Amino acid sequence: MILISACLAGEKCRYDGRDKAKTDLVELVEMGQAIALCPEELGCMPTPREPAERHGEQVLNSKGRDVTQSFIDGAKVAWDLVKEERIEKAILKTNSPMCGCGTIYDGSFSGSKIKGDGVFTELLKEKNIPIETRD
Ligand code: SF4
Repeated sequence: MILISACLAGEKCRYDGRDKAKTDLVELVEMGQAIALCPEELGCMPTPREPAERHGEQVLNSKGRDVTQSFIDGAKVAWDLVKEERIEKAILKTNSPMCGCGTIYDGSFSGSKIKGDGVFTELLKEKNIPIETRD
């Protein structure tokens, strides 16, 4: 089974209420070969919501509110939902403070990026899940 960031699978779960649908990934979910999850929504964050970015170990939204615990909770809930499956890989949305892998936004809300992983990605790496990214 493949794990996919839900916004890539067509769910309108991004902070701005939009998706980033990729036709091939939508089809994987429709064929039952992939599971789509949005860890931010699973952390009980509303959609739409203020954008958030990582500041080291913290995650702050654009109003300066600390949403770190919601991110940690959402990542754990997402993992709990899929941990019994044989997850061969995850395909995650680039640059996100939750799903980004390798690069993430730098916390300035300016569009600048730094090296780093999202909170869910860190957890998946701890579980040795191979990760690919899509933009
Ligand atoms: S990048 Fe991840 S957390 Fe953000 S909207 Fe997409 S699935 Fe949800």
